[in-house]
Amino acid sequence: MAERITGRTELIGLMAYPIRHSNSPAMHNEAFAYLGLDYAYLAFEVDNDALEDAVRGLRALRMVGCNVSMPNKMLIRQYLDRLSPAAELCGAVNTVVNENGVLTGYLTDGIGYMRSLKDSGVDVIGKKITVAGAGGAATAIEIQAALDGVAEISIFNIRDEFWENAQATVKKIRERTNCKATLYDLDDLDRLKREMEDSCLFVNATSVGMKPMEGQTFIPDQSFFRPDLIVTDVIYSPKETAMLQMARKAGCRTINGLGMMLFQGAEAFKLWTGKDMPIAHMKKILGMQEEEDR
Ligand code: NAD
Repeated sequence: MAERITGRTELIGLMAYPIRHSNSPAMHNEAFAYLGLDYAYLAFEVDNDALEDAVRGLRALRMVGCNVSMPNKMLIRQYLDRLSPAAELCGAVNTVVNENGVLTGYLTDGIGYMRSLKDSGVDVIGKKITVAGAGGAATAIEIQAALDGVAEISIFNIRDEFWENAQATVKKIRERTNCKATLYDLDDLDRLKREMEDSCLFVNATSVGMKPMEGQTFIPDQSFFRPDLIVTDVIYSPKETAMLQMARKAGCRTINGLGMMLFQGAEAFKLWTGKDMPIAHMKKILGMQEEEDR
């Protein structure tokens, strides 16, 4: 008889659409199997219309919790009982924990990014950073960096539909944290260069560099990078974006989005199981160990 799934196995779900491409089920199930924990993680195709019923189902089935991705990250708040500070400030949730019927929404993306920096030996607390982006990933990073004690954040975005969100993020950071946040137009490349010059770290938190914009970057040339600037990207597919490649050639230390992906999952894993994800093992599985050894 197969023993992996038993009558006592606890269920954790992922509610998003489309979602069949996600590597979260493989990541969490690998960690459960490695630690011998009796949980199973399954992806469910849930869109905005099905979300309320899906959350009701989570409660009725007494599931441990779930991950939430697009298009549900904002909408799910109204079906939950409590929000973590980062989820409340960002207005988005990627992890739900069910404690005896009380559902709490967390946002672990920003925590994941900050943990990935720490894991790489990068300390940004009390320092200035520059962030490009105002969407989901960028907002999570900006808010968490401010909550964690980064001194100053220069935020750049193009004047698209995310501009108002960037303005709101700057306002929240100013009102709710001790961090100095300023918003600039990403089309002002002279300003971008100046802000990057006295920052210790630059992060691309836009989708530029990933399909269908693979091979692209808004950084015009290598003169934007100096060797002691740490350059990071939230994108992990491709593993090295055009921007990271340019930064590496300019002598910068570069970090891709795999660590953020791993550690946002590790935070959720801990919230559900109370156990630490086996990070060294997962890095091997994700092919991150070879990168670190290089
Ligand atoms: P989003 O749609 O919420 O935001 C998109 C951002 O990209 C906005 O700031 C937008 O202004 C900017 N943008 C889009 N086209 C642009 C262009 N031509 N020039 C300049 N800026 C442009 O997306 P998101 O959910 O924040 O995801 C952004 C990226 O982050 C994606 O590549 C996603 O795969 C990645 N991501 C990684 C992780 C991780 O764990 N590593 C987690 C979440 C998202």
